[in-house]
Amino acid sequence: RRVQVSVHNITSLVDDLLDLGRIEAGFDTRKEPVQLDQIIHYSADGLRKKLAEKGHHLQINLPPSIPPILANPVQMRQMIDNMLDNSLKYTPAGGTITIAGHVEQSQVILQVADNGIGIPALDLPYIFDKFYRASNAAPEMAGTGLGLSIVRSIVESHRGRVWVDSTVGEGTIFTIVIPISGG
Ligand code: ATP
Ligand code: MG
Repeated sequence: RRVQVSVHNITSLVDDLLDLGRIEAGFDTRKEPVQLDQIIHYSADGLRKKLAEKGHHLQINLPPSIPPILANPVQMRQMIDNMLDNSLKYTPAGGTITIAGHVEQSQVILQVADNGIGIPALDLPYIFDKFYRASNAAPEMAGTGLGLSIVRSIVESHRGRVWVDSTVGEGTIFTIVIPISGG
């Protein structure tokens, strides 16, 4: 079982590094109209089992009026998967995770919020760096510190912005802004 876990970990590390390499190198910049609400629902469905295991409540707040954005659908899915995976992992059992979106001045604004462990202020400036993990990420919360680097690269390749607000012991909110035109 230990070997299996190690192989799984090293495989996901290699996958993440390959993804990041491809995104940073600017490969696969194909963009097409993407329905973000659909991507979010697919991603939520994929995580349903893990959410149920931890007894988390996932709330999706999206108005029906969000227009399609010009984006890379695979990368949009990776972005949402990574955000939700973090909320799920860094929130103690029975938490509430909310993903909300709205449109403002030809931009889509997405917010992923949780009532989890939060991120210490000293770590906040570095959490988007490769391999950086906050000091309160317990060893049993497995991870390599690449998820948010991938998110940032994806957001930047869509000319968007991402930032975080967090309070230790209260929770974390990530905000992503992406132009509808895909930049
Ligand atoms: P990986 O995503 O590569 O499996 P990871 O989750 O440790 O590993 P990132 O997703 O890049 O890496 O996140 C970096 C660090 O930021 C995490 O290790 C954790 O300390 C902190 N963090 C990210 N999201 C949250 C969150 N929702 N709540 C609390 N801490 C978070
Ligand atoms: Mg992560």
